[in-house]
Amino acid sequence: MSVPETTRETDARIEAPLVETTGGFSGYFKKIFHAGKTVLDGMSVTFSHFLRKPQTIQYPEVPVTNDLPERYRGLLEVDMDICTACMACERACPINCIKIDMKKVEKSLIMSRFDIDMAKCMYCGLCSEPCPTAAIRHTKEFEGATPILESLIFRFVPPGESIIGYKPKKEDGDKMPDTRAKGEIAREARALGYTFNPAWYATGLRLTVSAPKKKVEEKKDAAPKVDATSVAAKRGEFEKKLGDKSEQKVFKLLREIVADTDCGECGYPTCDEYSQVMASGKEKDRSLCKPGGAETAAEIDLVYMILEGKPVGAKNEPTA
Ligand code: SF4
Ligand code: SF4
Ligand code: SF4
Repeated sequence: MSVPETTRETDARIEAPLVETTGGFSGYFKKIFHAGKTVLDGMSVTFSHFLRKPQTIQYPEVPVTNDLPERYRGLLEVDMDICTACMACERACPINCIKIDMKKVEKSLIMSRFDIDMAKCMYCGLCSEPCPTAAIRHTKEFEGATPILESLIFRFVPPGESIIGYKPKKEDGDKMPDTRAKGEIAREARALGYTFNPAWYATGLRLTVSAPKKKVEEKKDAAPKVDATSVAAKRGEFEKKLGDKSEQKVFKLLREIVADTDCGECGYPTCDEYSQVMASGKEKDRSLCKPGGAETAAEIDLVYMILEGKPVGAKNEPTA
């Protein structure tokens, strides 16, 4: 009976010696030398550590924050001194970690709330990308361990207070005011996390910090309502400002109405440009100024009602 070819090859491999013994006496010593060299090669990596400076950092005794790369995405902070209240960050966050309550009073944008839920944040950085003033930014701070999750809601407007949005000055051009050292604000927000978040008080652990003076009321995410009467009441004032209804007058009034943050959310780089294209009739969409909200849209509508001679209350569609 003939043995299959593959079986014979397998048997030959099994029977072959593990160490080749060709080369006689010199071959034998060559192999010993080779084995020793291989061991030393491997151990050289290990031995080199005896000569190197140790890299181990005794964290948390030794802080590591400063050794992190500059673009590290740690806890977020917002410098409210340069926040324009444009709300671009809130709109950019894909998982709604940011909550801003803002309303327009006269020509100012007033924020009564600017919260970031760092417990929910996935550190994607999408909120800091559209910020026109780099007010919101990631820091190198990363320590967020806490027994109370709510303490990770960073409140940049202290409960019960309001902050007026920053307005870049035209004469400053692109120059921004000085901002605080990166990380300082995040550390403060983290420390105040317990004070500013009432849920923590419910636990009865109020041993070391004083309670906030005013109770924080969580607002529902309902769209802000526009007071139609107060907008309509501006008709006389707007008519006066529009005067002969020249393009320049229309531009000036629209420029006054838009939110004035130069955030670019409307698709135009500045408020001037959006106002100009509306005034010239090149841009028909009058609801692009998101930071101004419904009130700004209603006021712009009123301008066009006046220009088109429509009475108050008429349905106002942009004319082609
Ligand atoms: S880093 Fe991402 S998830 Fe966190 S607040 Fe910003 S956009 Fe939202
Ligand atoms: S200025 Fe920056 S931080 Fe302030 S609301 Fe706009 S995007 Fe957010
Ligand atoms: S007009 Fe445009 S640039 Fe100006 S605040 Fe509104 S969205 Fe921002």
